[in-house]
Amino acid sequence: MNNIAVFPGSFDPITKGHESVIKMAIPLFNKLYIAIGLNAEKKEFFPVEQRMEWLRQVFKDFPSVEIIKYTGLTVDLCKKLDARYLLRGLRTSADFEFERSIGQTNRKLNPDVETVFFLTASEYTSLNSSIVRDIVRHGGDASAFVPEAVDLSQYKSG
Ligand code: ADP
Repeated sequence: MNNIAVFPGSFDPITKGHESVIKMAIPLFNKLYIAIGLNAEKKEFFPVEQRMEWLRQVFKDFPSVEIIKYTGLTVDLCKKLDARYLLRGLRTSADFEFERSIGQTNRKLNPDVETVFFLTASEYTSLNSSIVRDIVRHGGDASAFVPEAVDLSQYKSG
């Protein structure tokens, strides 16, 4: 049975929220690709190789997880990988509205790919990568918000 999934995102950087939601998904799929989307319009904060390395560290004990990067449409990536499931996390109703339009568009682009949502753990609802970037940018300590394997100290400015 094809039970391959893709979890796309920027992971700039991975947070405890991402880690938690991806760990909910791992037992459900034979193979789970965590795919960093390279988007020319979205300016990166942490270099992509660093983001991939952090993801590899965080999921090193999960052999079904593979870290990749990609450009182009996520549904095209799914087709290339033979993945039928596209995974996303839902924090708030704003996430839902945003994800609904993307998910419905993706279904039109490729009806063979189903988007599956995972509900965020309540303690991570207000956590996002941009808050972590802001803390780092201003020289604060964001270690409480990222997995242990993510060492942000080298990026501390000021
Ligand atoms: P994007 O740049 O596409 O928004 P992100 O890296 O921010 O990608 O997020 C990827 C996915 O992880 C999204 O589905 C998002 O809802 C989910 N996510 C982000 N932050 C959290 C969190 N704190 N808890 C659970 N899921 C999260």
